[in-house]
Amino acid sequence: MEKIKMKTPIVEMDGDEMTRILWKIIKDELICPYIDLKSEYYDLGLANRNATNDQVTIDSANANKKYGVAVKCATITPNAVRMTEYDLKEMWKSPNGTIRAILDGTVFRAPITVKGIEPYVRTWKKPITIARHAYGDVYKNVEIDVPGPGKAELVFTGEKGEELRETVFDFKGPGVLQGMHNIDKSIASFARSCFNYALDTKQDLWFATKDTISKKYDHTFKDIFQEIYDAEYKERFEKAGIVYFYTLIDDAVARVMKSEGGFIWACKNYDGDVMSDMISSAFGSLAMMTSVLVSPDGKYEYEAAHGTVQRHYYKYLKGEETSTNSVATIFAWTGALRKRGELDDIPELMQFSDRLEKAVIATIESGKMTKDLALITSLPDVTVLNSEDFIKAVRATYEAM
Ligand code: NAP
Ligand code: MG
Repeated sequence: MEKIKMKTPIVEMDGDEMTRILWKIIKDELICPYIDLKSEYYDLGLANRNATNDQVTIDSANANKKYGVAVKCATITPNAVRMTEYDLKEMWKSPNGTIRAILDGTVFRAPITVKGIEPYVRTWKKPITIARHAYGDVYKNVEIDVPGPGKAELVFTGEKGEELRETVFDFKGPGVLQGMHNIDKSIASFARSCFNYALDTKQDLWFATKDTISKKYDHTFKDIFQEIYDAEYKERFEKAGIVYFYTLIDDAVARVMKSEGGFIWACKNYDGDVMSDMISSAFGSLAMMTSVLVSPDGKYEYEAAHGTVQRHYYKYLKGEETSTNSVATIFAWTGALRKRGELDDIPELMQFSDRLEKAVIATIESGKMTKDLALITSLPDVTVLNSEDFIKAVRATYEAM
């Protein structure tokens, strides 16, 4: 069979530890036999980030901007222990943070659902995608430990010296104080990324804040979303048969629990942090969660939501057998290739991605899976496969299709 040809390269960001091992097997077994792969390769493994003073991360993000589509392997975010383990010159920043800042993007996380791994919430029939605003609020706050009685004020001084002033509280004794901010530009980017992704995936978009209590702060989020929706997206949403729906955050939580799923839930930074862990564990496994970074001008970076699976890697280094789940990493590849096919008008590339995803799901539903899923599945007669054999089993399913 002739291999599928590509027009534009995808940006390939290699990574660390166990996911780097899976990366190569996935390419050898599932991608390169079928596709004449055009990729611009960047090695984001920690050793190379250190050797290039992290320039490779910046270069890869700029390539993502240039070509539009990237696929990324999980990477180590250095901490004190990693400094000695990898003999680092500096505690390099999180690559995901660097790439997100350069693309000004929003992260969308969605579970991959299969029969036999049932969500803990009975009513959920379809995946729920969480979109988390990745800038500001409590993550960029300033705080004061109030030592005793005194007056706390919120003061804004404009460039020309004009002042806005509010009393926060007249303290009669010790307490705590916090200041937060966000910026219109970032909120607008977040809104556009969400509206674009909803159109892309033909799903309704929900957004919720606490604007009844926070009449300026949260209300600004609500207003910016509504203004952009009315001016730029309303007609396209109506044409696509999808809905933009705003409600209060507590009402949203109650509705999510009673819903069937199948929509995007846009969350402010803190809400997204909390809710994405709830959604991913309620759907079964972090190893079955995909993640895509979408910029407001339509650049995409696909990856798995989990990390480098360090514990398995150390077993692998000792020559012990591992059973690491490669599903989210395979879906990062299919997501990127499908998007490339869509942008370059290569239907075969899109069909390939659809089929490979079907093969992954069919393999699991036939009872062949890695250990993490075997522990939670409701399927009888399960065969637990090691890391490599699972990928080979997917290839066999694909070939049979
Ligand atoms: P992790 O790699 O997500 O793994 C945590 C645990 O979850 C694993 O030990 C394993 O449990 C289970 N697990 C996660 N993915 C799995 C998979 N594909 N198959 C089977 N089990 C899986 O998180 P971590 O160990 O806390 O972090 C390791 C490194 O990843 C860190 O250096 C961190 O900086 C980095 N990280 C990177 C990203 C990213 O690049 N996007 C995201 C998060 C973390 P058992 O050990 O019980 O089997
Ligand atoms: Mg969290």
